[in-house]
Amino acid sequence: MSLRSPDLLERARNILVGGVNSPVRAFRAVGGSPLLIDRASGSRLWDADGREYVDYVCSWGALILGHAHPDIVDAITDQARRGTSYGMTSPLEIDLAERIARAIPSIERIRFVSSGTEATMSAIRAARAFTKRDLLLKFEGGYHGHSDSFLVEAGSGLATLGISSSPGVPRALAMLTLNAPYNNTAAVERLFAEHTGKIAAVIIEPIAANMGVVLPEPGFLESLRRITEREGALLIFDEVITGFRLAYGGAQNVYGLKPDITVLGKIIGGGLPVAAYGGRREILDQIAPHGPVYQAGTLSGNPLAMRAGLTTLGLLEDPVFYRPLNARAERLANGIGEALGESALSGQVNRSGSLLTLFFASEPVRDYAGAKRSDTTRFAAFFREMLARGVLLPPSQFEAIFVSASHSDEDISRTLAAVRESLKTISSSH
Ligand code: PMP
Repeated sequence: MSLRSPDLLERARNILVGGVNSPVRAFRAVGGSPLLIDRASGSRLWDADGREYVDYVCSWGALILGHAHPDIVDAITDQARRGTSYGMTSPLEIDLAERIARAIPSIERIRFVSSGTEATMSAIRAARAFTKRDLLLKFEGGYHGHSDSFLVEAGSGLATLGISSSPGVPRALAMLTLNAPYNNTAAVERLFAEHTGKIAAVIIEPIAANMGVVLPEPGFLESLRRITEREGALLIFDEVITGFRLAYGGAQNVYGLKPDITVLGKIIGGGLPVAAYGGRREILDQIAPHGPVYQAGTLSGNPLAMRAGLTTLGLLEDPVFYRPLNARAERLANGIGEALGESALSGQVNRSGSLLTLFFASEPVRDYAGAKRSDTTRFAAFFREMLARGVLLPPSQFEAIFVSASHSDEDISRTLAAVRESLKTISSSH
């Protein structure tokens, strides 16, 4: 059986829906052939034809240490010999839970699940039960997984495919989800005034990363904390991307804020399927078996993923871990900014820590409407030029570039050379 990409792609299209198991992998927004990956190590991916790429997707942010980090490989190899799933509690779950709670003080109780989607879905169930209210307030362009309540004006793959609300979500349920523009406190106040006593929770990515990277303006997150407290609603930080990304702990540590519930995923699983929701004891204690709010999972807290998570967080806890990572990301962002300046193309680079996005937009991007004003055709051309030069960016204008600790200075230099050439090529063809 052939292992070359064209044959594999044909087989994939004939059996996997759309040829993929998650939509953005199909490259619909950028054109060209989707990648079929054979193996990965450090900052590099190799496709089925042996072509090498510097990878800035990094499993959508899960791999802050890069691919196949030797300590992670050792930990999961050792664990596999001891069993991959016990169907009962293991000490590893307690260790990882304690480690996370030490890093994120707002987490007094935690429950592990297997995907971010499950974690956010369960978090809002807990919030609705606790407040005895039904409405949710999220932000346009925010992505919180694909459970029904969140597929309304969502970012990530929905932004990429231009889907505002998914068929199959009952209208009656979608009507319980309110949307405000990101960075718009007045809109949040208006929605609370219109729905007094009915909003269970405000859920937000404290740094938005699914409409491309958009930073909270000074005071915005603080105002959400103030308003939710005043209105008796819960504040949920979806830190699936930001958790352990900017610094050890979450964005909440960086901003000095305490949400009622925190959702984590990606990095805490070290590249294996794990997510979690945690927060104030009285809210989490409603979950079964302590309370009546049901939520369960066959592979929840599975020991392979716990070992990968424990090993990852053990390495991130080093006080000097984040400094070189963030410095390399800053060098990349500044270099892209300079290359843009030389090219006469308009663009904006938004960055926080090792998360960044180059928007082909003429104005600073502060919300989803601004992100959507960027030139996605130009982004697609840029993506293809970069790929041709061996650099894999996220295949959508509305996703973050993830820098990992495995990206070397040489990787950044090579990437910036590709950026300059790619910008030159696309500006001369416009
Ligand atoms: N929340 C956020 C902020 C995310 O970025 C994602 C996925 N990228 C999710 C939730 C859903 O996580 P999963 O894909 O593991 O279901």
